[in-house]
Amino acid sequence: MDANVVVMGSESVGKSALTVRLLTRRFIGEYGDIESIYSHNFETDGRDITLNIWDIYEDLSVETSLSEKKIQWADGFILVYSICDRASFNIVSKLIQTIKSTKDYLNTDKVPIVIVGNKRDLHHRRTVSSEEGRLLALKADCLFYEVSAAENYHSVLMVFHGLVDRIKDTKLAL
Ligand code: GDP
Ligand code: MG
Repeated sequence: MDANVVVMGSESVGKSALTVRLLTRRFIGEYGDIESIYSHNFETDGRDITLNIWDIYEDLSVETSLSEKKIQWADGFILVYSICDRASFNIVSKLIQTIKSTKDYLNTDKVPIVIVGNKRDLHHRRTVSSEEGRLLALKADCLFYEVSAAENYHSVLMVFHGLVDRIKDTKLAL
């Protein structure tokens, strides 16, 4: 199976850190402003999956830059905020609405979306509680994980596995 995934969210929440962690298992620390589509293979339930991951670099506070093309391209979405940055959390709610109104599925509730609260290692600077993240995910029928791209490779892997499972479900249902 092939699946297209976009990683979206405010600047500096760790989109590139999450993507690079999946691809290389490493946390480098600085990622610059490159925007790329990466290809990554892995196996789940004995099936080979090829993920095309679009690590987006754009200023999402500018409403017009939200590209419909990216949303249409994607089979699934990883929406990232930082647990230390409330504004980035608010942007995730907006993104969910934009995605659901742009995607032309018959049942838009089925759009595969994972909400990720990143930088869990910085808990002493937390401004968004786990409950808020979980509640948003519950309301929007999305998956939710709190992770640390810096400290926990396994948590990052769970995000991508969770999304792939959701994508498999929707592809089977179509
Ligand atoms: P992007 O703009 O969303 O792609 O964010 P980056 O991946 O470039 O990360 C922005 C900054 O946050 C960089 O300095 C990263 O080192 C840092 N960062 C990313 N993820 C984490 C994390 O889980 N914990 C901590 N402490 N810093 C992180
Ligand atoms: Mg980036």
